[in-house]
Amino acid sequence: MSGKYNWVCFECRYATRKLKINKTISKCPDCGNDLYCLGYKVAIPKKANSKAWKSMKNCSFCLDITYLEQEAKNKVKEKHQLEKEIIRLENLSDNKENRKALKKLKTRLESLNVRL
Ligand SMILES: [Zn+2]
Repeated sequence: MSGKYNWVCFECRYATRKLKINKTISKCPDCGNDLYCLGYKVAIPKKANSKAWKSMKNCSFCLDITYLEQEAKNKVKEKHQLEKEIIRLENLSDNKENRKALKKLKTRLESLNVRL
């Protein structure tokens, strides 16, 4: 695995390979729309092959990857928020209510179980 992912713009049939370190979504240099990340397993068709591009756009497997990655991103965001809230509560006075809230947050955090 090279660690590079395919990023495409369905409108312009633009494709590029990029490392997935940066958290920001890459933009299409032609139309400025967000690029879709299709992972590293999907073969990108030639620009002239409009049929292949169309089927790729409708390919649930390809779009699932995008969807799953978006899900993962949302989870990471929620995890950070939970962690911040936990720290805040831990610094508050130790009473029954705070302990209860803290327990709830930690349970939620565990259920997210984010793997990066
Ligand atoms: Zn574009």
